[in-house]
Amino acid sequence: MTNVVLVTGASRGIGAATARLAGARGYAVCVNYLASPDAAKAVARHVEEAGGKAMTFQADTASEDDVVRMFAAVDERFGPLTALVNNAGITGGAHAVADVDCEMLRRVFDVNVVGCFLCAREAVRRMSTKNGGAGGAIVNVSSMASRIGGAGEWVHYGASKGAVDTLTIGLAREVADQGIRVNAVSPGLIDTDIHAAAGFPDRLEKLAPNVPMKRGGSPEEVAETVLWLMSEAASYVTGVIVPVSGGR
Ligand code: NAP
Repeated sequence: MTNVVLVTGASRGIGAATARLAGARGYAVCVNYLASPDAAKAVARHVEEAGGKAMTFQADTASEDDVVRMFAAVDERFGPLTALVNNAGITGGAHAVADVDCEMLRRVFDVNVVGCFLCAREAVRRMSTKNGGAGGAIVNVSSMASRIGGAGEWVHYGASKGAVDTLTIGLAREVADQGIRVNAVSPGLIDTDIHAAAGFPDRLEKLAPNVPMKRGGSPEEVAETVLWLMSEAASYVTGVIVPVSGGR
């Protein structure tokens, strides 16, 4: 049976590195994106040129209709899903709690929390041995911000990732006897576009001295941990949140 993975937010950053590595490890990969079709196609091309199978799918993970259509498209193209990487996420930009705007807050929670729940729901419906599925693995991409709180930058974002941590622990226990493992990675400071998008193009250089390893991480370093959690090598691991953070 082919391993099939859906990686949300896979056009750039950690999601793109995860999709490329999954393709190299023999997974058929669905590269989801929101607004960067060319970047998503480049990730899919990379997988195909290395001999793998890939498709792209535009969907806003915060939209129930989009998510339902996306999972159906993966069923049709590749057959039963064996892994989901809930990676799509946004910071909402830097705002003190005293200044948060309700629309921004709702969008951050819609993408980072509601989107993860909707994708997890669709994955569990397909994977659960209770429904005749063959089991599978879900990896959520959380953030160290859930532990350190994001003070002065993005408490709203840290709080949304706190919900992702709780989803990971709770869902893992809920479906542990249905053949599904649910884990998370908790990246620290990783070299992607997310910092510039939040208005801090030099955030990595500025904050790297505070990291025990004195450097930011690469998306590929996070992808390696995601792929390990997806794999049979982690067959007795569920409900854990693995920091990938250079010792923070
Ligand atoms: P990034 O470089 O900004 O890429 C974000 C990706 O998510 C893009 O592919 C984007 O698609 C997609 N996306 C955003 N909103 C979406 C939506 N509503 N529906 C579908 N796709 C959507 O981000 P990143 O740094 O790789 O972050 C990936 C994950 O890691 C996020 O959950 C983030 O919170 C987490 N994380 C990152 C860091 C870090 O330092 N980089 C640290 C901790 C946690 P388009 O290209 O189409 O816009």
